[in-house]
Amino acid sequence: MRGVRFACVRGCTLCCRQPGYVYLTEQDLLRAAARLGLTPQAFESRYVYRTAHTLRLRKPRGASCYFLSENGCLLHPDKPTQCRLYPFWPELVEDPRAWKREANFCPGIGRGRWISPETIRRRAAGMRRAYPDMYE
Ligand code: SF4
Ligand code: SF4
Repeated sequence: MRGVRFACVRGCTLCCRQPGYVYLTEQDLLRAAARLGLTPQAFESRYVYRTAHTLRLRKPRGASCYFLSENGCLLHPDKPTQCRLYPFWPELVEDPRAWKREANFCPGIGRGRWISPETIRRRAAGMRRAYPDMYE
């Protein structure tokens, strides 16, 4: 993909409120727990659903994410990898139609600083590294 302008819009939380799950790496879990002053075990038992190959945030009833507050993400700057790397996910940046749909949805795409093709590739590769089971 060619370069693109992108800057997350202050106060926007549209992508946090979409259906779907937030997956974590083991490192994400440690960082998020530390951010909240919890032990990893306490964080996991309250907020994480673990399967054989994945970790994902549990969802509160009637809301999209435990960490979405009026002021944005309570885990920032230690939010999970997929949240940090959005919108530069492989399935978006490698599919022009998917990217166009995302650009219509996310007001941060097309504004702000220039993100080079190399940076975009690096972020997409970061997603593949973080979630190998999702991209095999
Ligand atoms: S939808 Fe785009 S602009 Fe809005 S919070 Fe998500 S990344 Fe930022
Ligand atoms: S963890 Fe933070 S950035 Fe990710 S969906 Fe929840 S509130 Fe949004």
